Amino acid sequence: MNFSAVIVAAGSGTRAGPGQAKQWRDLAGKPVLRWSVESLLNAGVKKLVIVANPDARGVLEDSLRDLSGWTTTCGGATRALSVQAGLAALADRPADEPVLVHDAARPFLGAAAIEGVLRALADADGAIPGLPVADTLKSGAVDAGLVTKPRDNLWRAQTPQAFRRDRLLAAYAAWTGPGEPTDDAQVVEQAGGRVIVTPGDPMLMKLTYPEDFAMAERLAGATRVTRMGQGFDAHRWGPGESVWLCGVEITHDQTLIGHSDADAGLHALTDAILGAIGEGDIGDHFPPTDPQWKGASSDRFLSHAVELVHRRGGTLVNVDVTLICERPKIKPHRAAMRERLATILGLPLDRVSVKATTTEGMGFTGRGEGLAAQAIAVVETPA
Ligand code: MG
Repeated sequence: MNFSAVIVAAGSGTRAGPGQAKQWRDLAGKPVLRWSVESLLNAGVKKLVIVANPDARGVLEDSLRDLSGWTTTCGGATRALSVQAGLAALADRPADEPVLVHDAARPFLGAAAIEGVLRALADADGAIPGLPVADTLKSGAVDAGLVTKPRDNLWRAQTPQAFRRDRLLAAYAAWTGPGEPTDDAQVVEQAGGRVIVTPGDPMLMKLTYPEDFAMAERLAGATRVTRMGQGFDAHRWGPGESVWLCGVEITHDQTLIGHSDADAGLHALTDAILGAIGEGDIGDHFPPTDPQWKGASSDRFLSHAVELVHRRGGTLVNVDVTLICERPKIKPHRAAMRERLATILGLPLDRVSVKATTTEGMGFTGRGEGLAAQAIAVVETPA
C-alpha cells in the first residue's frame, strides 16, 4: 500500500531534562529520530516529511547522514501547527493517500505497528495503536483522599496514527478546541470521524523523562537481530612473484589470476558480509566487466560492504576466514592478516579470525591449480 508519513520533531522536549532536545540525543549508538526514520524507510514510505525547527537543520542532517528518501519542513508554534505544516509539504502526493503521523520521541517503531494502522484505515477515518490501561487508576490530589476510576475501555494512545490526508486536513481546519489537541486522532474524533484502535506495542514508549532513556537503552538491545552470511571464492594460480591474501602481500613463486588483485580471502569475506544483509554479491557491486576495477585493491570492496552495514544502522560482530591451499604457508602471515582485516573492518582483533588448511593433495587446491577461501560474517542490525 502506498503511504506517506510526517514525523514531528520540532519540540524542545524540556521534560526530558536540560541539554539537547530528546529527538537528537544518542540512543544506543544513533540519534533518537533516526530509529523511526529508518523504520519508515524500510517499510517503503513514498514520501517522508520531518517537521523540525529551522535552527535544527544542521543536527537533523547529521542525525540522518547517509539516509535518503526524506525531506524536511519548518515546524509551527504548537504540535498541531507542526503537523499541518508537515501535511502541507505532502501536497504533491494524492490527496486521499494514507498518511502516518509519528512522534520523533517514539524510536522503537516496528513494522507490525505500521502495517496494523495502515490495514485498519481501510474501514475507518483513523487508526491508532493503543495499549489497554493495566494499572488501577486513582484520581485526587496527592495528600487528599483518592477515588478509584474504572479503567474499562481506556487506552493509551500511541503513534504512528493513520489517516487519509485530505480527511485529516479538513478535521484540523474544523478544530475549535478547547485548547490544543494532544494527538491527531482527537482532531478527527471531534470532526465526527471514526477512529479505531489497533494493537499497540510497549516498545513504542514515548521518551519523556530523563529516566526513560535508561530504560530505552536497555530495550534497544532487544530491537536488534543477528544475521549471518557466508562467502566463498577461488582463484587460479599463474606466473608471478607475490600474492595478495586478506589484504597482505606475500612473496611467492606464483600469483593468483583475477580481474582485480584476486585476493580470494577479501572476496569471500566481502560476500559473507553482503550475504548477511541480503545485498547480493561482490559482482553486483563491482562488476568484473567494469574496467575501473581492473587490478583494483580488494580492500575497497570490503570497505564498501562494511559501509552498507553501517548505512542500515548495523554493526559487524565478528568474522572468520578460512584459506584453503597447499602453498604458500599461511601461518607466518596470519597475525598481519588479522591486523589488516581488523583495521579495514573497524573491529577489535579478537573478533577477526583467519585460519588456513590444506586439502591433503586432493582437489584443485591440493593439485596446486588454485586457492580457495571461505568466510563467515556475523552482523547485528535493527529488526
Ligand atoms: Mg574473487
